[in-house]
Amino acid sequence: MNIILLGPPGAGKGTQAQRLEERRGMRQLSTGDMLRAAVKAGTPVGLEAKAVMERGELVSDEIVSKLIDAELAAMGEGAGAIFDGYPRTEAQARSLDGILALHGRTLDHVIELEVNEDALVERITGRFTCANCGAGYHDVFKQPAVAGVCDKCGSAEFKRRPDDNEETVRTRMAEYRAKTAPILPVYEARGIVHRIDGMADIDAVSEAIAEILAS
Ligand code: ADP
Ligand code: ADP
Ligand code: ZN
Repeated sequence: MNIILLGPPGAGKGTQAQRLEERRGMRQLSTGDMLRAAVKAGTPVGLEAKAVMERGELVSDEIVSKLIDAELAAMGEGAGAIFDGYPRTEAQARSLDGILALHGRTLDHVIELEVNEDALVERITGRFTCANCGAGYHDVFKQPAVAGVCDKCGSAEFKRRPDDNEETVRTRMAEYRAKTAPILPVYEARGIVHRIDGMADIDAVSEAIAEILAS
């Protein structure tokens, strides 16, 4: 099973992808995570992407499609893929078709998380992650069970993204509306799009996704 989680920044894609990894043994393929790793490592891709990401604009289609292709190649055949934050443009959607075919995979579901924009700003500005294992948290909506300690790995170190501020979020939302939302009709024509209420609480969203995957 291969699925795309689609939705504006802060919609809950990463949160739900982490749960699908834990509960169904699928693999999260997040181009955002891949790019942040490249920035941290100072690779040529990272050097090119850093400033673009800080502005909240989109990195080039070629770069992200290459990253996805390499990850799928490294993954082997077993696990299903969760595309998180990719594709984000019509060109990327076309590339994904080619990449999937190359790796003998087909796309089963495109799940769009619908969330209102004001809520997104609140989600993004309260977001933080475990610096050790990457588990996602929120100041209000998803605090660790024991304050200051990661539920998953026990680490006491957390981090926030430099692009998770209100100004950048507005740019990222505009990019989503202008470039990403237009890819939906292509998948709609294939009859694989599902829209779910991303404003529901995290467990309810997981339930809605589980129902789609069981359909
Ligand atoms: P969010 O989860 O908040 O939507 P991501 O972690 O997916 O953010 O992406 C962070 C930034 O990385 C984006 O604002 C963009 O600059 C870049 N990026 C991530 N994925 C892509 C992509 N598929 N195409 C172009 N740029 C991307
Ligand atoms: P995305 O990957 O789509 O950018 P995240 O999964 O990182 O979004 O979620 C953004 C922030 O909102 C995180 O801090 C996360 O803990 C929180 N969050 C995710 N889903 C929900 C939800 N259904 N209700 C409330 N907060 C949520
Ligand atoms: Zn952790």
